Amino acid sequence: MRQIYPVMKHFEKIGSPQKIEERVYRLSHHVMTLSVTEGVLLYHKMTGEMLLLTSGEWGTAHADGALKSELIKRWFLVPEDFDEYELSMKIREIAAILTPKKPGINSFTVFPTTDCNARCFYCYEKGRRRQSMDEKTALDVAAYIRRVSAGQDVQLNWFGGEPLYNSKAIDIICDELTHAGVPFTSRMISNGYLFDEETVKKAVGQWKLHKVQIPLDGTEETYNRAKAFICKEGSAFKKVLGSIDLLLDAGVDVVIRMNVSRENAWDLERLAGELHERYRGEKRPGIYCVLLKEFGNKEVGCYEDAAKGVRAYERLGSRIVELGLGHIDRIRRDIPMNRCMADSDRSVTVLPDGRLGKCEHESEEKLIGSIYDDEVDAGAVSAWKERIFVPECRTCLFAPTCIKLKACAWNKDGCSEADRELMRVVLRQSILSEYKKQVKKQLSDDEI
Ligand code: SF4
Ligand code: SF4
Repeated sequence: MRQIYPVMKHFEKIGSPQKIEERVYRLSHHVMTLSVTEGVLLYHKMTGEMLLLTSGEWGTAHADGALKSELIKRWFLVPEDFDEYELSMKIREIAAILTPKKPGINSFTVFPTTDCNARCFYCYEKGRRRQSMDEKTALDVAAYIRRVSAGQDVQLNWFGGEPLYNSKAIDIICDELTHAGVPFTSRMISNGYLFDEETVKKAVGQWKLHKVQIPLDGTEETYNRAKAFICKEGSAFKKVLGSIDLLLDAGVDVVIRMNVSRENAWDLERLAGELHERYRGEKRPGIYCVLLKEFGNKEVGCYEDAAKGVRAYERLGSRIVELGLGHIDRIRRDIPMNRCMADSDRSVTVLPDGRLGKCEHESEEKLIGSIYDDEVDAGAVSAWKERIFVPECRTCLFAPTCIKLKACAWNKDGCSEADRELMRVVLRQSILSEYKKQVKKQLSDDEI
């Protein structure tokens, strides 16, 4: 038996080795096993420990002896009737108590406008009001940020709609914060169409923009059809690639998001190949893919056969990594305290009229207050923190770290088997990638 990863810090502080008793033991629900050339990898989602057993060891792991005792002590084997869910929830409770809470809000997702120059078929904002922030509101937003951030470094996330459709509001907010001496940096989610040399220059200098996420949903023809820009000259696809180049040249990180739907999965693999050819040099965008699923009641082109969608996602994800354009997420080595901006006490969204929300995809409902009133609706804030519990949680591999929010429109159906399969695909990829890194490192250490 070889330890590939030690237990994570949280568990080291809170947990203790399991006592060995005269009981019948089974493999913990929180363990993922994976066959590799050297044997079998065991990754424990509650403790964070990763072990490698040879095939021979794995075959006799349940037999009495030193190996079985080790696996019991390390929680890989647990008594048959043991309630692991209760234990992992207790550990999470204690971890939450021990995690220091920082005061104030430091992350602001600002909607300069909910209007947009594209008409994507999968748009979550479809049917919502198109509204832009006026100059007076932009000034008030800056004053609000200054007030509630209380001297902390501020992270601004420009969202929309298309944020560049109302860059005037961005100018005003950034100028006001700069004059007031508020330290800030910004990121943007944009379709990329409206960037030109002047805007990029301003974005870096005035907006302190360091990262832009741009969706590319297919090769040229598919992309132009999917985005259906309302005012375009020539090919929108070529225009957006030009924007990506300008941003990269200016030192801005560009992340291309590929939305995988039943309409375009086949084409995205071609696009990955084209981007690989285009970005062979040092400056290159990162790429990640997301499997579209039903969002609230909106039809966004997701696969009817969910398993087929998961396979398409897995194939594309592996291809992007193979081409050196994407990366596999590292395994998280802590117990998360929140899922996203929606259940974080440090984040708010700011709509064009100054109303405050919690989720970047909710611009009409479930709002929590306004920049003109520092008292927020505590009930609405708590509603965003409510977590999903389904019967499958009790024996789920992911229970020790999973957070799914009831109010999140992605979770309309709670948690389905397809959701869990997608999570297993991602975890499998991460475990294999970390294992390869560790083996490589251990081999080079041995050489020294
Ligand atoms: S919500 Fe789903 S993924 Fe999370 S613990 Fe429950 S069953 Fe598992
Ligand atoms: S609640 Fe859901 S849609 Fe909203 S920010 Fe969180 S994960 Fe995204």
